[in-house]
Amino acid sequence: MHLSKRSLQIQPSATMKTSAQAKQMIADGIDVINLGIGEPDFETPRVIEDAAINAINTGKASFYTPAAGLMPLRQAVADTTNTAYGLDLTATNVAVTTGAKMALYATFQTILDPGDEVLLPDPYWVSYSEQIKLADGVSVPVATGETFKVTPAQLDEKLTAKTRALVLNSPQNPTGVIYDKAELIALKAWADANDVIVVTDDIYGKLTYNGATFTSIAQLDDHLSDNLIVINGASKTYSMTGWRMGYVIAPDSVIKQLSALLSHATGNPTAVSQYAFLAALQGDQSAVEKMHDAFEERLNTIYPLANALPGFNMAVKPQGAFYLFPDISEALKLTGIQSTAEFVARILDEAHVALVDGNAFGVDNHLRISYATDLASLKKAVDRLSKFMNQNI
Ligand code: PLP
Repeated sequence: MHLSKRSLQIQPSATMKTSAQAKQMIADGIDVINLGIGEPDFETPRVIEDAAINAINTGKASFYTPAAGLMPLRQAVADTTNTAYGLDLTATNVAVTTGAKMALYATFQTILDPGDEVLLPDPYWVSYSEQIKLADGVSVPVATGETFKVTPAQLDEKLTAKTRALVLNSPQNPTGVIYDKAELIALKAWADANDVIVVTDDIYGKLTYNGATFTSIAQLDDHLSDNLIVINGASKTYSMTGWRMGYVIAPDSVIKQLSALLSHATGNPTAVSQYAFLAALQGDQSAVEKMHDAFEERLNTIYPLANALPGFNMAVKPQGAFYLFPDISEALKLTGIQSTAEFVARILDEAHVALVDGNAFGVDNHLRISYATDLASLKKAVDRLSKFMNQNI
């Protein structure tokens, strides 16, 4: 059958592809440790699951909801964000979506005209560039160098008359770096001066470690700026990846148009998940703290071990999210392996550890290692990587 040009220009998500491959190997009986996936390994906290069961038992989950989500949920998102960011949002500043992925997809569809350019500090999360393409936009990677953080001077070099937006992600996937307040003030001034929309993806905002704190660019003013869109969701904070709950926070006019789009795309975010997410936002947050502490312990365990692997280099210790992003240029030289893709493939085949090629994030000679898995498996994975390196040097 005919396939559209639009569909043919899209690559499958590299992280999901790696993960599916690892899962297949596990299903085939191979003992693979999957460090390719960006997904907390904890079951969703019981109180959240119970709220969903209750919504089913009381018949509330059976029906369509408004396209941008249930009003009490939109209000709860506004309230939570107001408390965290010091803003004065109302429910009409919020659209609830089927995951942050849909929040981003709907955002790009709503703000981009064909040919509009979107600046993506490099490395960047895999789906941004594909979603921008689907909105007929053009992604413009901006090299960030060793810090992995973009500066106004670097943005200036890529600014054109067609620049429409800048995507910021902090704490960042895949590097775990966090922008500090001074850096954000400079970026905000740059965006305001150049009339560029900032899309800030704050999905890892609750996952910061070892005393590092998270500031969102949305926190710099008392009111939501006219050129600011916040993306967030339940997946990483509440270990709710399967429930598909995300949201967009934006000026009313943007939310109105974005909701119209959603009404024809998803109809509404799944009702049962909305009741679960409402309970997550309004309930006791101790489970979030427990998961956070487990991630912190994992980072502090795996970072020195991975950094000590021959040819693996991480100049900066990650401060947030749940990934390491080592530079493996030296490891490639030591082993004589020709490319990062081949390195990742051989590690999966021979050491049975699934990792993601940094090229999926726009950067060569790097790997992404997710530490969203238990400590014992992490240590075992590093042992396997160590053995692989020693056998191939
Ligand atoms: N943004 C970033 C930076 C991510 O890493 C992810 C998931 O991996 C998402 C957004 C999407 O999350 P979800 O669609 O599960 O809410």
